[in-house]
Amino acid sequence: MHSIHPSRWLATARKVGVLSCFLIGSLPGFAAQEQVLNLYSARHYATDEALYSNFTRATGIKINRVDADDAGILARLKAEGSASPADVILLVDAARLWKGEIDDLFAPVQSPELLKAIPEHLRAKQRAEGTSWFGLSTRARVIVYDKQKFKPSDVDTYEKLADPKFLGRLCIRSGSHPYNLSLFSAMLEHLGTAATENWLKGLVANLARQPKGGDTDQIKGVASGECGVALANSYYLARLYRSENPQDKTVVERIGVVFPNQSSWGTHINIAGGAMARHAKHPQNAVAFLNYLVSEQAQKYFADGNNEWPVVKGLNINNPALKAMGGTSFKSEKLDTSVIGMNQVKVQQMLDRVGLR
Ligand code: FE
Repeated sequence: MHSIHPSRWLATARKVGVLSCFLIGSLPGFAAQEQVLNLYSARHYATDEALYSNFTRATGIKINRVDADDAGILARLKAEGSASPADVILLVDAARLWKGEIDDLFAPVQSPELLKAIPEHLRAKQRAEGTSWFGLSTRARVIVYDKQKFKPSDVDTYEKLADPKFLGRLCIRSGSHPYNLSLFSAMLEHLGTAATENWLKGLVANLARQPKGGDTDQIKGVASGECGVALANSYYLARLYRSENPQDKTVVERIGVVFPNQSSWGTHINIAGGAMARHAKHPQNAVAFLNYLVSEQAQKYFADGNNEWPVVKGLNINNPALKAMGGTSFKSEKLDTSVIGMNQVKVQQMLDRVGLR
């Protein structure tokens, strides 16, 4: 046996004793783990800060956060392998959540709370060993149009964005951004290969400018008259609707918003969600954090703070911006996430062929 000098043993015992007293005293159930959670997050929303600090206040678990985009986080997890310090992963795209599961980057979680709170179609398949990832909020990909040039019926479907009427009028962010890839993957499921590729060709023909910037830039492009129509995630719009900034108010006055495909398959919805990392060093803290994210308080942050829709049903969400946009009751698309995920390779090849960067 390894020998240790009595005085050092005493010092160590004291340290451990003091430490475990502190942990057990302050938080039963977490004594075995360091009060830390390492979070890799693709959520890029300032209002989330309150979400994290409330968790720390309630549990004593400190959050160390690494920010990167979805693809960057998945690549980092792969590169780090079992040495990865990541405990929880937050991503903002359903297909990337699915990809993380397929690439075995997540550890299955057993949590009756999460299963009860989140509808089945908004989380990974439940298996005996647990569930791989959990949707925490949803967002809609809507169409924005210039009210001076067009009317809602001009853009009440995604298909219409390829109409020659919009020649030189369409603005979108990069075609291979996850938000667009997931929308196009859904279109492939609805329309089939030939029609989807034709539709994408139509989008390219209609571009007002090379894809650049984020969704907010497309919305502002419509308001400035440079673009006639654009695609954007609902929360970027809601942010402008809630803004007190006079320039943002001018933007909102000029644009109209349509939740497309109400008389067919419904408006495309994407999922932001979370998972425990495959090699999490603080698994109890990870599950505690994921459980916290479906609490009423956290869900209200998603809804009121970042203007998303909570996954937990029956919460009384009163978001005036979503109301003003017509986002309180609309038909949303219901597609299996694995379908969206699996279609992405094919869609990326189509984008390369039609030249939509
Ligand atoms: Fe975003």
